[in-house]
Amino acid sequence: MIKYKDCKIYISKENIRVFDIDDINFCLRKIPAAYIEVAMNRFVYVDNAATTCVYEEVISAMEPFFKKNYGNASSIYGLGRESSIALEKARSDIAECINAEKNEIFFTSGGSESDNWAIKCAVSSNKNRIISSPIEHHAVMHSINSLVKKGFLAKYVSIDNFGLISPENVSSLLDERTALVSVMMANNEIGTIEPIEEIAAICREKNVLFHTDAVQAVGHIEVDVKKLGIDMLSMSAHKFHGPKGVGALFLRNGVKLPPFMDGGAQEDGMRAGTENIAGIVGMAKALEIATGNLRENCKKIEKMRNKIINNLMKIKKTRLTGHPEKRLPGNASFCFEGIEGESILLSLDACGICASTGSACTSKSLEPSHVLLAIGLPHKIAHGSLRITFCEDNNEDDVDYILEKLPLIVEKLRLMSPIWNKDQQS
Ligand SMILES: *Cc1c(COP(=O)(O)O)cnc(C)c1O
Repeated sequence: MIKYKDCKIYISKENIRVFDIDDINFCLRKIPAAYIEVAMNRFVYVDNAATTCVYEEVISAMEPFFKKNYGNASSIYGLGRESSIALEKARSDIAECINAEKNEIFFTSGGSESDNWAIKCAVSSNKNRIISSPIEHHAVMHSINSLVKKGFLAKYVSIDNFGLISPENVSSLLDERTALVSVMMANNEIGTIEPIEEIAAICREKNVLFHTDAVQAVGHIEVDVKKLGIDMLSMSAHKFHGPKGVGALFLRNGVKLPPFMDGGAQEDGMRAGTENIAGIVGMAKALEIATGNLRENCKKIEKMRNKIINNLMKIKKTRLTGHPEKRLPGNASFCFEGIEGESILLSLDACGICASTGSACTSKSLEPSHVLLAIGLPHKIAHGSLRITFCEDNNEDDVDYILEKLPLIVEKLRLMSPIWNKDQQS
């Protein structure tokens, strides 16, 4: 930062929020060197499982639908028809990206709504049982809990220490009153990728509906709903560089589900409400870009992830959480013994690094994440969790910067930690 009276200018290398080299040059010419103070502000965003930045091309694709083409897709004049054409094009583009049919895509307000719809509407009084996993996202877990309160029955499959679900166990829990199996495609905290194709095949054989929360998977790994044999799938635009507040539910042709939202006849009478055209167009654009660059992005992201994992695992009393191989390309998640995840986050934030933890003080409970407990970690260890999630906008410099800061942060926090010091003595 250059300080000169009231003039503040931010200088940066890459990744930094505000900079304009012309301004800097201007000031360097005008301001006596003695008054110039320079600080490098780094900003490294590695919380891409929480949300992602919106691609520039996505913003450009959305813009006309706020300004020029603001028509309601249900109106019959030209302006409305333009919206309706854009809506249907977005629907077929998205369908193509996951190998679905156009009429199998229903737009929603995001991943949470899609999960609520699939779960709450699939059960009925004569088929009142649901099977799920203990590591689902809250949108699935709490939807199921609300059904349980109404008298429905939920059973949870067992998982191993990597968070991997056993298809055989799913099979053994199924009975003639099971309405639905809901198992996520990839876990948002620990990154484990589940054997969806096997689980879907078991459900199909037993004639039970199968839903998967694929919010972390779509746009990040290959998703082909036909090959996987899925009945219902949830996705969300803001997890793949699209806008927030828009998502979709894939509903395989032939699957009968009641509407989620009553009102107008939008979305084939299944989900009422004037369509979020700009958001939907943005979602389609983002998914097209993400799936178009999937292989190349995966390679780049995996390389960064592996470097972080290999180096952070050198810190003593550190564990990798999630499966060592069957994991999302961008996910590196850990537990550092003897310290609190929240403290790590605050120290990282002070260095301009945005990451995440599974010890959820954010949810106002001091309980560690249900995912970390479900993979068998004791409370004490689960409290020291950290999740780093990369996207293709990150680079080697980001990785090196994290590796420069994080081991020192862990060391410093451990020196201050009564738990750590006690454990070291015993
Ligand atoms: C983010 C997320 C959701 C919720 O999606 P929203 O669009 O934010 O409602 C659901 N499931 C998983 C696995 C997620 O990561």
